[in-house]
Amino acid sequence: MPDHVDYASQPTSPRLTESAARVATLRAEAAADIEGFWKREAMSRIAWVKPPTRIKNTSFEGDVSIKWFEDGTLNASVSCLDRHLETRGDQTAIIWEGDEPGSQDSVTYRDLHTRVCKFANALKGLGVRKGDRVTIYMPMVIEAAVAMLASARIGAIHSVVFGGFSPHSLAGRIQDCKSSVVITSDEARRGGKRVPLKANTDEALKTCPDVTAVVVVAVTGATVPMVAGRDHDYATLVADASADCPPEEMGAEDPLFILYTSGSTGTPKGVQHTTGGYMVWASFTHELVFDYRPGEIFWCTADVGWVTGHTYIVYGPLANGATTLMFEGVPTYPDSGRLWEVVDKHKVEIFYTAPTAIRALMRDGDEPVKRSSRTSLRVLGTVGEPINPEAWEWYYSVVGDSRCPIVDTWWQTETGGHLISPVPGMNPLKPGSATLPLPGVKPLIVDSNGTPLEGEADGHLCIADSWPGQMRTVFGDHDRFIKTYFSTYKGLYFTGDGARRDADGYYWITGRVDDVINVSGHRMGTAEVESALGSHHHVAESAVVGYPHDVKGQGIYAYVTLKHGVEATEALLKELAGWVRKEIGPIAVPDVIQWAPGLPKTRSGKIMRRILRKIAANEVDSLGDTSTLADPAVVDDLVSNRKK
Ligand code: ATP
Ligand code: MG
Repeated sequence: MPDHVDYASQPTSPRLTESAARVATLRAEAAADIEGFWKREAMSRIAWVKPPTRIKNTSFEGDVSIKWFEDGTLNASVSCLDRHLETRGDQTAIIWEGDEPGSQDSVTYRDLHTRVCKFANALKGLGVRKGDRVTIYMPMVIEAAVAMLASARIGAIHSVVFGGFSPHSLAGRIQDCKSSVVITSDEARRGGKRVPLKANTDEALKTCPDVTAVVVVAVTGATVPMVAGRDHDYATLVADASADCPPEEMGAEDPLFILYTSGSTGTPKGVQHTTGGYMVWASFTHELVFDYRPGEIFWCTADVGWVTGHTYIVYGPLANGATTLMFEGVPTYPDSGRLWEVVDKHKVEIFYTAPTAIRALMRDGDEPVKRSSRTSLRVLGTVGEPINPEAWEWYYSVVGDSRCPIVDTWWQTETGGHLISPVPGMNPLKPGSATLPLPGVKPLIVDSNGTPLEGEADGHLCIADSWPGQMRTVFGDHDRFIKTYFSTYKGLYFTGDGARRDADGYYWITGRVDDVINVSGHRMGTAEVESALGSHHHVAESAVVGYPHDVKGQGIYAYVTLKHGVEATEALLKELAGWVRKEIGPIAVPDVIQWAPGLPKTRSGKIMRRILRKIAANEVDSLGDTSTLADPAVVDDLVSNRKK
């Protein structure tokens, strides 16, 4: 991994130094007394009805049972709303920035509380009870957060389905969790286009006979057909509802939500999170990892349809009394300066996005960034994929003007929140490394036999013990939970990711384990080769996979997307091969480089390497589940231009 930039002298401040030191102290405290540590954090972060006395009761063996704070009771919406009313009722809870520049809205904690209580009562009126599943298929509007919190208030389990998913994907998720209520909108706005969410819902419901009620929020005002007896207008429902809705008292281990994973590696799983542990984890990580301080404007660009949106748009920030920004649009609309314009407009202090967005914006150069001042920015974050050092450096120097620490946060839908991440003020940062585990997190790198490796190591990333935010089961399929996460290595949570630990104890995520390539006996992470390709000034993005090779066992197949205006020539192919040779070594030189106008990505922007593996191996008839792809047409192009 090119480790060529030394950020040891990264600018810091007494405040940041203090915050980083505090996290080091917390790490030591958690290591010394894990139960005492989490008891204290749980008590100070969350509003309990009945405070927990039993803190940790977890086992990764046998049937796998994970319980945190099990005798405590609470309601998540109270921690996010009610307890802030006295101290910050008039503070903005959510700033909403619309798809069209100029359209904006906001809601205070007091107003949000009222809206949540009214809608919670409306849901009750539709027959929703504690434990029922409510599917939320919404655009990025304030009502999406209202719907989540209203479900939580009455003890219903929400399942948010990303608004970019097709009717087929929506139907599958409704059926899997047996939800009887769907909350949607007439349409969604995204990048100047309209998405017919209600029409998609109607289509999906043809195969979901158990859905008895659909609530429709008017977002664009488009006329949509309403099915009598089943469909309800949101505004009418809440207009008649009482604003008094006592919160349902939930056990800490009662489920808060189900969320389906993005499906990068297979069929999505219904990841189930619980109320107590998840809320503690959301609050803890949001405050520590972003060094969040009261009054600051926090912006996470994810969609609420992903776990990142759950934890870092809704639950974490609201639990911490933050002002959280919700953006309806896309980074490139109306042009690629939009994000930075919004940063300036709302004086955003903490900004959190994905490498895929950074790489896309990098393709358009520095000018759209430099049109803005970005002086309010203090901390930058990334999540979702390994960030190649090239993109890291651009983010750091161009977006952050070399002033803002970057937190490269490694985590998963399954983990509920960050597990491995730098904290602002920590030195040195290393571009491309998620650095160190958070307090109370015990990563292990194991070899393929499951033997833990000490010191500098390269292998499979596992977690040795439970943390409060951990998922508890796959909805309705505990066996799949055990099989997926706890059967590869006995007694360990297996992440599915490969990782390297360097001499400083820093972790580098090398990609999914399935994506690790074995070339003539040398193990190589796809992330490593992609970083090398990505550091060439003509390359916008690349994806690397292994394919069967007669001599080497596995060969390296690289799909390369060039920057705008760069011509794909034979000479450039040779140059890129030479470039990788120079950056990593001869062993890493791709056997095949195919030009890719686009890469197959999930709707959360992750490269779906399993499809690229199939194309490289010429198994194009068995591409598998492509329903979570953002743009299936990309695949056709890659298949027809496949290189022998
Ligand atoms: P599925 O589990 O259905 O295949 P998915 O793994 O893409 O989908 P997510 O939970 O959204 O679903 O993604 C988690 C994964 O994203 C991690 O396991 C890791 O591979 C990758 N990831 C997330 N953050 C980082 C990061 N900072 N650095 C490297 N990889 C990351
Ligand atoms: Mg995963």
